[in-house]
Amino acid sequence: KEAKAGVALYTEGRDELHLRQLTLMGDLRGAIAEGQLSIRYQPKIDLGRNRVGHVEALLRWQHPRLGAVPPDEFIPLAERSGVIRDLTRYVLDGAVAQNARWSADGLEIGLAVNLSAMDLMDDGLPDMVVGCLRRHRVPATRLILEITESALMRDVDYAVRMLHRLRAIGVRLSIDDFGTGYSSLAQLKRMPVDELKIDKSFVVQLREDSDDAVIVRSTIDLGHNMGLSVIAEGVEHPSGLALLRRYRCDMAQGYLFSPPLDGGALLEWCRKFEGVEA
Ligand code: C2E
Ligand code: MG
Ligand code: MG
Ligand code: MG
Repeated sequence: KEAKAGVALYTEGRDELHLRQLTLMGDLRGAIAEGQLSIRYQPKIDLGRNRVGHVEALLRWQHPRLGAVPPDEFIPLAERSGVIRDLTRYVLDGAVAQNARWSADGLEIGLAVNLSAMDLMDDGLPDMVVGCLRRHRVPATRLILEITESALMRDVDYAVRMLHRLRAIGVRLSIDDFGTGYSSLAQLKRMPVDELKIDKSFVVQLREDSDDAVIVRSTIDLGHNMGLSVIAEGVEHPSGLALLRRYRCDMAQGYLFSPPLDGGALLEWCRKFEGVEA
């Protein structure tokens, strides 16, 4: 009897989830036009120079009835419904425009934008990126595109070709959430990228003498041996930052420094930032 109740509960939960997904998928199309989307920016700290290296653009969706919907939930839905192209265009254009405004206000800073697996399949992506940079007169070298390791692994040959095309326009490339996507070293070697971004699951609780420490340290060494810059995301504690410095990690990002901020607040934050001592 108990088992039966459990099954009923489970089915109900699943139906509710399904309904939520359908609702979100339907509403996402109108979200841009309705002004429900916005962009936040989180600093990526250059540990060697003790200054802000880039800022990462992170998409936010304020649903009128359901409140804030996290990108980890709606980005996969946007990929399934095909609306991801519009979202990517929205973020790229908004973030590059913001970057140009920061420059006008005296803050010259690199910009990181996330791409999804489906963006890589879009033949028009490089032209879209070029057009956006031209429109806002932002140099390509100021843009770094973050692509998750698992997105790159969906179709390695196709991904490698697209990465070469993107690199040819002068932007830099980063492998996001590194360590969670099952790439082989042979595949990694083929990826024309500039940066490895260690997934936050290894970083948030980083402590000396832990498995995470072994993983983080060897990933930093691996990246450096391949000539890549290495960044850790999800840095929340000073002790974790101290370890990252000791392991010669190039950059760090996380709530320890700042949460994602709106464009104006980010400018103020950068002006005040004088480096965090480990
Ligand atoms: P991501 O690109 O790996 O971004 C890092 C995520 O970690 C962000 O979550 C950020 O807010 C969060 N974070 C930052 N510092 C800390 C910390 O110290 N501790 C912890 N626990 N988390 C931290 P967010 O903004 O919810 O985004 C989640 C994911 O959604 C992103 O992961 C990215 O994969 C995707 N995403 C966000 N914006 C976009 C976008 O414009 N386009 C695409 N394609 N994906 C996006
Ligand atoms: Mg990212
Ligand atoms: Mg990440
Ligand atoms: Mg992530």
